[in-house]
Amino acid sequence: MSAPPLRSARIDLAALRSNVRALAARAPGAQVMAVVKADAYGHGLVPCGRAAREGGASWLGVALLQEALLLRQSGDTGRLLAWLYGPGEPLLEAAVAADVDLNVSATWALDEVRAAASRAGRPARLHLKIDTGLSRNGAPQADWAALVAAALDAERAGDVRVVGVWTHLAYADVPDHPTVDAQLERFRAAAAVAEEAGAQLEVRHAANSAATLTRPDAAFDLVRPGIAVYGISPVPDLGGPEAYGLRPVMRLSARLALVKRIPAGSGVSYGHEYVTSTETTVGLVPLGYADGIPRHAGGRGPVLAAGEVRPVAGRVCMDQFVLDLGDAAASAGDEVVLFGPGDDGEPSAEDWAVAAGTIAYEVVTRLGPRVERTWVGA
Ligand SMILES: *Cc1c(COP(=O)(O)O)cnc(C)c1O
Repeated sequence: MSAPPLRSARIDLAALRSNVRALAARAPGAQVMAVVKADAYGHGLVPCGRAAREGGASWLGVALLQEALLLRQSGDTGRLLAWLYGPGEPLLEAAVAADVDLNVSATWALDEVRAAASRAGRPARLHLKIDTGLSRNGAPQADWAALVAAALDAERAGDVRVVGVWTHLAYADVPDHPTVDAQLERFRAAAAVAEEAGAQLEVRHAANSAATLTRPDAAFDLVRPGIAVYGISPVPDLGGPEAYGLRPVMRLSARLALVKRIPAGSGVSYGHEYVTSTETTVGLVPLGYADGIPRHAGGRGPVLAAGEVRPVAGRVCMDQFVLDLGDAAASAGDEVVLFGPGDDGEPSAEDWAVAAGTIAYEVVTRLGPRVERTWVGA
């Protein structure tokens, strides 16, 4: 029998399915697009995409065309939107051929998608994006009517079908922020412009996780939750996952690579930022910033080890960090848990985000390939 992995992320697909159902219940009139970009926020693109479908997501969403094509290669045949590419994107034709819906935010992109569609020999399905106030992706309002007109020309020529209009919110995590109302108002107007120009829209969509959970009026025909699918609250100041019926999907653990006694007054890890006050037992955790453990969480990142939650002792190194276990009984090979759903009193990804001065999105998406993923509950 081989030893359990030294570094392990256990992904609970039953929790993921249940999270998708909880999100769908928040948006009763809308379809759900589970966002699985960035390797499903570090949780594994293909197994999570499949579980999201089983939980009721009739759409999947990704940023990159490569991500969409990986899903297609895995056998996924449902509705799928990819939204981020640049001029000269080499995968456009393959994406059209694979029936991947594409974002268009500018006329150069429309032209390139048209050309790719004629090479692929089938019309491309487009979602036109309007920038209603994030100033990120999306056509500026001043260009909207012209982009709609050009896309409908391309539709009449048989090159594309305009199936969606969409936007993204700047302040969805502050549900009563005045920009949310203002953006939704501009979005309704932009959708009306497209429909009056003759677009036969299948879906209008604007809501990420935060808006799905807190702004039912942003649901339109389709919601696009990402982080909440993985059981992490997008609005930690308003409520944790349990407040929204969500359960964290990932549990990150490691096995101690070494345990030893060291004397009082020992400096621990680079720069000796932690110094032992008494003789004590230290445990070596074989995870470091190369695995995505934030170096900014040195001295603070919480770990359940030998029956207690203990902060990282000193700096996080590239491959490892140290825990001060006091006089607790511990041995090499013992499991320690960095974060998980909390069943055993372990911290959450949100706790690590607070310790590192970041957001839980970054904690889970940064987990590196040296952390072995195992999927349970398939
Ligand atoms: C990442 C992303 C989402 C999902 O956002 P969450 O905050 O994770 O729910 C939705 N839409 C777009 C355009 C995105 O880039």
